[in-house]
Amino acid sequence: MNSAIRPSRFMRGDGRRIAVSFEFFPPNSEEMEKILWDSIERLAPLAPNFVSVTYGAGGTTRERTHATVKRILAETPLTPAAHLTCVAATRDEIDVIVRNYHDAGVRHIVALRGDPAGGAGTRYAPHHGGYQNAADLVSGIKRVGDFEVSVSAYPEKHPESPTVDADIDMLKAKVDAGAGRAITQFFFENDLYFRYLDRVRARGIDIPIVPGILPVQNFKATTGFAARCGASVPTWLAERFHGLDNDPATRKLIAAAVAAEQVIDLVDRGVTNFHFYTMNRADLVYAICHLLGLRPAVEQAA
Ligand SMILES: Cc1cc2nc3c(=O)[nH]c(=O)nc-3n(C[C@H](O)[C@H](O)[C@H](O)COP(=O)(O)OP(=O)(O)OC[C@H]3O[C@@H](n4cnc5c(N)ncnc54)[C@H](O)[C@@H]3O)c2cc1C
Repeated sequence: MNSAIRPSRFMRGDGRRIAVSFEFFPPNSEEMEKILWDSIERLAPLAPNFVSVTYGAGGTTRERTHATVKRILAETPLTPAAHLTCVAATRDEIDVIVRNYHDAGVRHIVALRGDPAGGAGTRYAPHHGGYQNAADLVSGIKRVGDFEVSVSAYPEKHPESPTVDADIDMLKAKVDAGAGRAITQFFFENDLYFRYLDRVRARGIDIPIVPGILPVQNFKATTGFAARCGASVPTWLAERFHGLDNDPATRKLIAAAVAAEQVIDLVDRGVTNFHFYTMNRADLVYAICHLLGLRPAVEQAA
């Protein structure tokens, strides 16, 4: 029987709990603000572990990230995690941001080096007087307060990393600095994740390596994004979206099927924790979570 239609272990009720988190980006217009908050409202009843808010390349969304995180704290029962990068700021400036988060009640930060000021693919140089890399940032955050810190992980290695082993060395440095969870770059071939996981565990890293799942809202945009961040797009995926450029309704169904297949296979192979790159859209993610057995908290309590 094909894994795409076989009931997952979770759905057979083997008692394992599925935990999810959702990633959003800060809106840059009133229209985007409404889309974001509609999505947060739709997904909140699924009681995610946390919801994270990204930090624009080069620190460009510093204020908007902060405002979104604070509004989540003030107006929802959700636990926010604020993304933060080392780019374009001194250590003192970053420490102030971290302290402000702490004062506001935020206790979870996703700590990243960030892309070079010239954009992904250009050479990275640490800011003068700034944190040198993500591991250095994790140490800095831990010095400011008792934060839960998540970091990135790259099943296909980061494009700037010479080898997978060098990449895993960086992950180890981040864990040694105090990171308690890694969230992966998105991937479409689950074997890549499991091969990476084996190597990470063999290196003595035992924190959760949570798969980052990207439902393909827009195949063309995904291809461009994947090329920039070193994630491969398999031929079979391109074939599934082929010919649908002018057919958004079918594209959406295909996207749901692809993501459903991916997460069910991961569950069947033992994964219980997922991080969804929502792109601020709730529909696909809600459907996939439903498939994973998640139900609105009120419905469950009834
Ligand atoms: C879950 C997740 C969330 C993200 N959120 C954001 C966000 O909110 N805002 C944002 O701007 N970006 C974000 N990014 C992207 C991230 O900032 C970029 O991928 C960036 O290029 C690397 O940052 P990092 O913390 O992953 O790097 P690190 O973990 O520090 O490094 C990644 C790899 O690159 C290699 N490397 C790093 N520096 C060098 C160097 N100088 N020379 C050679 N090799 C080097 C290391 O070997 C390491 O393996 C996110 C990525 C992920 C996976």
